[in-house]
Amino acid sequence: MRDDFKIVKICPQCGSMKVNWINGGIGGPVYKCDDCNYVGTFILEVYFKDVPKFQKELNKNKY
Ligand SMILES: [Zn+2]
Repeated sequence: MRDDFKIVKICPQCGSMKVNWINGGIGGPVYKCDDCNYVGTFILEVYFKDVPKFQKELNKNKY
């Protein structure tokens, strides 16, 4: 299986792949982004090959 079709989790705020699963409480998993300090239960799961596309989209929305 090629890396292109590997599912990776990215931050919905900045598109970083440096998201860590920090808690599995009653509300379900909570993720934290190392780059922008986003904390939340919502995370984007995309194909590895699509990561740059999402990062571009997210950056476009920011400015
Ligand atoms: Zn982030």
